[in-house]
Amino acid sequence: MALTPMMRQYLEIKEQYPDAILFFRLGDFYEMFFEDAKLASRELEITLTGRDAGEPERVPMCGVPFHAADNYIAKLIDKGYKIAICEQVEDPKSAKGLVKREVIRVITPGTVIDGNMLSDKDNNYLVAVCRIGQSYGLAVSDLSTGLFQVTQMTGQWALNQLLDELIRLAPREVVLPHSLWQDEGVKKSFQELEGTTITSLADQIFTQEQAQQALTEHFGQAKTTALDCWQSPAVCGAAGGLLHYLLETQKRKLQHITEITSYFTQSYMILDGIARRNLEICKSLRDGGKKGSLLSVLDLTRSAMGGRMLKAWLEQPLIDIKAINERLDAVQELVDSVLLRDELATALKNVYDMERLTARAAYGSANARDMLALLASLQMLPPLRQALTNCQSKLLKRIYDQFDTLEDLKGLLESSIAEDAPITLRDGGLIKAGYSQEVDQLRAVARDGKSWLAGLESREKEKTGIKSLKVGFNKVFGYYLEVTKANLNLVPEYYQRRQTLANAERFITPELKEYESMILGAEDRLVELEYNLFVDVRNQVAAEVSRIQHTALLVAQVDVLVALAEVAARQGYVRPEVNNSGVIEITEGRHPVVEINLGPGCFVPNDTYIDTDRHRLALITGPNMGGKSTYQRQVALIVLMAQVGSFVPASKASIGIVDRIFARVGASDDLTSGQSTFMVEMLETKQIMDHATSQSLVIIDELGRGTSNLEGMAIAQAVIEFLHDVVGCRTLFSTHYHELAELEGRLAGLKNYATAVKEQGDEVTFLRKVIRDQASKSYGIHCARLAGLPGQIIQRANQLVQQLEFNQRAAQEVVAGKTQVAASVEQLALFPEKNEEHDEFKKEIVALDIANMTPLESLNYLYQLQRRL
Ligand code: ADP
Repeated sequence: MALTPMMRQYLEIKEQYPDAILFFRLGDFYEMFFEDAKLASRELEITLTGRDAGEPERVPMCGVPFHAADNYIAKLIDKGYKIAICEQVEDPKSAKGLVKREVIRVITPGTVIDGNMLSDKDNNYLVAVCRIGQSYGLAVSDLSTGLFQVTQMTGQWALNQLLDELIRLAPREVVLPHSLWQDEGVKKSFQELEGTTITSLADQIFTQEQAQQALTEHFGQAKTTALDCWQSPAVCGAAGGLLHYLLETQKRKLQHITEITSYFTQSYMILDGIARRNLEICKSLRDGGKKGSLLSVLDLTRSAMGGRMLKAWLEQPLIDIKAINERLDAVQELVDSVLLRDELATALKNVYDMERLTARAAYGSANARDMLALLASLQMLPPLRQALTNCQSKLLKRIYDQFDTLEDLKGLLESSIAEDAPITLRDGGLIKAGYSQEVDQLRAVARDGKSWLAGLESREKEKTGIKSLKVGFNKVFGYYLEVTKANLNLVPEYYQRRQTLANAERFITPELKEYESMILGAEDRLVELEYNLFVDVRNQVAAEVSRIQHTALLVAQVDVLVALAEVAARQGYVRPEVNNSGVIEITEGRHPVVEINLGPGCFVPNDTYIDTDRHRLALITGPNMGGKSTYQRQVALIVLMAQVGSFVPASKASIGIVDRIFARVGASDDLTSGQSTFMVEMLETKQIMDHATSQSLVIIDELGRGTSNLEGMAIAQAVIEFLHDVVGCRTLFSTHYHELAELEGRLAGLKNYATAVKEQGDEVTFLRKVIRDQASKSYGIHCARLAGLPGQIIQRANQLVQQLEFNQRAAQEVVAGKTQVAASVEQLALFPEKNEEHDEFKKEIVALDIANMTPLESLNYLYQLQRRL
């Protein structure tokens, strides 16, 4: 049997979109067929049915109602699928035969613009990557805001740099040439990206000539050739590939992507994925959410645009002292003036997402409510600018100078869009009275016609004497006068009969028909006219998209600066001094997140002094839970905040800027995964050894835990020596190997620090104070007690520690040629009764190779011992 014509149409279209789920419009539904239907029914939990398609068996089918499609689309996009929206592109009523259908847009995770599929304070990045020779080109866009940027990575570490950049951007989707996607190195690197959809396209899309042509066509000759990396085939390839993909999926002109700009990753502090994760800059380690991150503390921004910009700033700290100081000057000015801050804050509160609203306007998908939200935002621009009038800092002054209050657009929207306009565009009510004479006239006609009709009934009753006469309306005959059979004798001559019912007749009059066509015509024309006028207004807004975007960015900056000033004032931060001295000196520094979690007055501040010379490596020993990690991260975060241009949690800070922060934190806390954890630890350490420079700040929190004590310590020492002697970077290195403290004196730039502990009888208190000292004890059993291990075990462990320590000493003495071992062991009399079993224990314990046991092995051994007693 042959397929039905509609099914043939479906298959022809589907063939062009093999990697998307085809939403095929049938009346009020989007239907899916075959494999798409099976997949969608599973993912969306909707019923799978079948449809006769001309084949012996019904084909699988499922569908979603057109008006509720957005939710289903959002769900599928969220799961990383792409959706091709196929609409009926001619009116079914006028179509001859099969209605024509076309895919009007392909929605992919990286090309979402719909507000409810996006998170306000996050960008939705789509990235394209291209490689030519040793160089990688990267192009990134956010279709929902209109951003389009390019950059390039070259040299030996280009792939590493690319990955760092991808991790920073966390794109929803990456587009790249087929051949590049086949590259094992690239594939492996990309595994680190979480939740990113990868789309590979034909290689020729990324060729330089094709790309240059497409880019010039879109952005114009001037903007493209002005790009400093225009001659780089890799950059052009990536940008061209990105533009191609956007145009192919969106199937329209992208009017809101007006600027193409380039940036250099070298202009910013470098942070790799490991550092970003461990420092919890924008996400917490615990659950990957914002709560518990640095961002959560600093984000007092009021607008979505400000929120996105703050995140971008935190993810890209600066290295240029002048630029950092410009931001700090602005924050300072806002910290100093509560009044200014409040004025700006009040205006910012009412600013909506101008970037995305304008993008939707340019896209043709904005409704009247969107335009009203844009208007509300535009109304805030004059007070915002006004507040900045007397600012002194360079950055705020520049913002003031460049600030376009867009009064023309505000005027346009104020006069044109009705304040109570509905969401729908096809029901009228969009245009404000007074904006268009024609609209006003039509409204008057419709209104007058209706009031004439309202009076008609009583007028005709009076004229004819028919008490039961009624005016009515139906779709077929329009307006009519209805007279019951009993009164037909009273019907005047000029009534024309139109319809006969069981006990009544319906009539019209020439006058009634005249008004009718006036009313109905006016309403239809009004809806049409209002729609056209609205689209025209929307287009006028769209035509100014680049002006609006420019101002939106300035508003976002003000929002971020006000937020930083507010946090600074609220939390008692100070302005850091930034310089090139190589010295990081912090007085009474605090961890910005932990101090908030602990509550007021609970955090113990700590000082820091490291430089590139005799204090370049701070070796921090101390018990578990002593505060080592918190301290190290606090130093890194203070440096990072300073380079972002934020005030910092300290009473004084002077920051010799760093080119890069590395933060390796003990995966060792997770003792269960053994070997692989150790491997991860070593790989992360290699990353530091490969890339750290003398200007970097390195934080290593425990190293070598995953292997035997002896080896672990040896690796830790070797790494310390390498960082100290070869790299010469500033390092904070914490370790539980107290023995490493002996390196002070031997390594000129290493200084010992410890977290202070107070012991009073049995009572041990961790003071969380970092002092110039070295730890002498681990307090592991103290921790075990705190954790609530049974008293019996604690007691036993204490006994055993003494025994083991004694054995170790004894072994050393044997090596040293002393011979009183047996007698001493007897004296300790851990197992006083003499019997064979205890002798066995004794032998076994004496034979233990403690130096080569990991802490876990020791603990296990302890446990076994206890079970055998
Ligand atoms: P370590 O790395 O030495 O095991 P952590 O840095 O993880 O210790 O600190 C353990 C706990 O001590 C933290 O969860 C925190 O609540 C508390 N803490 C750490 N530093 C401080 C401090 N400076 N002031 C107050 N409490 C602190």
